[in-house]
Amino acid sequence: MAASEKHPFAPETALVTSGRDTVAQKGFINPPTQRGSTVLYPTADDLLHHRSDYQYGRHGTPTTRALQDALRVLEGPQCAGVGLAPSGLSAVSTALLAVLRSGDHLLVCDSIYRPTRSFCDGLLTRYGIETSYFNPLIGERIADLFRPNTRAVMVEAPGSQSFEMADIPAIAAVAHARGALVIDDNTWATPLFHRSLDQGVDISIQAATKYIGGHSDIMFGTISANTRAWPLIAEGIRLLGICAGPDDVFLALRGLRTLAVRLAHHQRSALEMANWLGGHAEVARVLYPALESDPGHAIWKRDFTGASGLFSIVLKPVPQQAVHAFLDELKLFGMGFSWGGFESLVIPFDCSTYRTATTWAPGGPTLRLQIGLEAVDDLKADLDRGFAALKAAI
Ligand SMILES: *Cc1c(COP(=O)(O)O)cnc(C)c1O
Repeated sequence: MAASEKHPFAPETALVTSGRDTVAQKGFINPPTQRGSTVLYPTADDLLHHRSDYQYGRHGTPTTRALQDALRVLEGPQCAGVGLAPSGLSAVSTALLAVLRSGDHLLVCDSIYRPTRSFCDGLLTRYGIETSYFNPLIGERIADLFRPNTRAVMVEAPGSQSFEMADIPAIAAVAHARGALVIDDNTWATPLFHRSLDQGVDISIQAATKYIGGHSDIMFGTISANTRAWPLIAEGIRLLGICAGPDDVFLALRGLRTLAVRLAHHQRSALEMANWLGGHAEVARVLYPALESDPGHAIWKRDFTGASGLFSIVLKPVPQQAVHAFLDELKLFGMGFSWGGFESLVIPFDCSTYRTATTWAPGGPTLRLQIGLEAVDDLKADLDRGFAALKAAI
């Protein structure tokens, strides 16, 4: 489907129908997990003119094409192409390397995924690219931070630990007026709940390891771009040799088929859990833009069509051993990094040590929760057991 062509179906329907070629798949619903490097050409002339549907494994297979087609529809009419990467972080690093050059200046929101920050401060610095960080709530005042050599702005909304909501359309308007590209890490909402490319973003990134994969069994990343940015992304992917393994491509496509039902369930349960936690004696604050009480709620409501199952809570001040007692008591909430799978997770976090444009001082211990697909009553009972252990440890 060409960029700017309108898809006839609602996103939920498109998730089911797009990226399927019944004839090419010999009647089967799903494409094969195509393993392949070499593609054979029938004649020397065909070989020399690259005359073939597929040229070489790294440049695409029937499996990658099915996933790219489905993602392009999901990203909406502005999407000119989708690149696939072996992890979310490699999608981020590939996009940045594809867009930036030595001597450039990059603006990144202070709430960005921490390994993205490490990439900017580490490798990009070595390549002569300077990054400065901005308050995610800056809005159009980001204009003050632009320099003549500012080539790109990177946002993430909400921040995946602290949940500040950046005003992406306002930031994008300023960036475009100055000729800069806008890159959005859209992992939290997915394109189902936030059409980045419709909101002024040029390059939209997914850690598909999270909700698109949905089962905690793959590492995967995607880079979607509009007509302005796609040539740069396509070139960067080709020059860097970025490609993903066939099993992960297949599983990402399989995850995509059920994304709408899973996200609807994550959202419903997360809202119920967030409201319940907000009324809990041990909880000072819930950080979740889907709540009316959240400072980012108005922007979320304007720009997003849903909320995923990830949010944070600030506990009332208690000693660290009480927080550990809480965490160690939990049975359904696993302790581990990542999120977006079917299972509930919890981690303690502290952004205060690495922020540079803002101060992180929540006033109590902070925990990030991923609400999985379990029954909410079981999840509440699990947390209540934890809170009882917390109180006993004070
Ligand atoms: C997990 C995550 C990434 C990185 O994805 P990986 O697949 O783990 O490399 C990038 N951005 C955000 C917001 C994430 O949560």
